[in-house]
Amino acid sequence: MQTQIHVHEERRRYIRNRVDFWAQRLSVTPRLVRVQRMTRKWGSCSTSGTITLASDLADQEAGFQDFVIAHELLHLRVPNHGKLFKALLTVHVPEWKKYDLRRGNVGCEPTSVPNENGEPS
Ligand SMILES: [Zn+2]
Repeated sequence: MQTQIHVHEERRRYIRNRVDFWAQRLSVTPRLVRVQRMTRKWGSCSTSGTITLASDLADQEAGFQDFVIAHELLHLRVPNHGKLFKALLTVHVPEWKKYDLRRGNVGCEPTSVPNENGEPS
């Protein structure tokens, strides 16, 4: 477990900057953005407009960060993973499919465990 507070703070700030960038680009406004330690998921989005992202996302490659952040922010516009959601994601993160199957996927619904296809059940 990381106890280096300053490293943690730096990661949080970095992720928040990426979120700001994507929120503008996607024309959405999250009500609250939380960055915290998450072990099972990279991010989540609640129906009330709260985005939660894993702090260790900051250690991942930029393309993957964009995928997770854009994915969660897009849920503020499209609450499911239907055709419209995928179409929008493809516009903004054309390579998202290559990231989709990592680490149990993004796992947007807190209680769902994604299956092999990366679709939350
Ligand atoms: Zn999702």
